[in-house]
Amino acid sequence: MRQRAARDQQRLDSGAAASPRDLENLQREIISLAKRQSDLEDVVLEVMERREAMQERVQELTRRVESVQAKAAEAEARRSAALAEIDAEASKSVKEREIVAGSVPADLLKLYDKLRSQQGGVGAARLYQKRCEGCRLELNITELGEVRGAPADAVVRCENCMRILVRTSDSGL
Ligand SMILES: [Zn+2]
Repeated sequence: MRQRAARDQQRLDSGAAASPRDLENLQREIISLAKRQSDLEDVVLEVMERREAMQERVQELTRRVESVQAKAAEAEARRSAALAEIDAEASKSVKEREIVAGSVPADLLKLYDKLRSQQGGVGAARLYQKRCEGCRLELNITELGEVRGAPADAVVRCENCMRILVRTSDSGL
């Protein structure tokens, strides 16, 4: 298009166009070509601007994806660490339980296991300041008297939740 405009301009300048009508036509064509060129330049500019905007958007989305991936990886690592900790704690507890269970008479262990399955995983509770820590109820005077009177090695139980009561120096007896 530029070449054509230049060629027209050349013809115009050289005076090769003979008639005034030819001259007029050439001038009109030159103006029309210049206008089209300017329009096309506008289109090119707009396309470039849009491409730039899209590249920026792609970069922004890429950054966000990377940020989310980093957070996910971090959470994954924390989860793995927590699971490892729980596993270690669980196997430690299992070992401790085996040691304790080995020193408990068989019939008492049987009773404890039965209560544990009936009472949501807790078969024995501490008697703390006259209160059963299993069901959180305070023992009445009669019950406290019975516990107080029982031999140290006797198995005493909460009248309310039936759990085995573990007596300590803080039992409030
Ligand atoms: Zn209780």
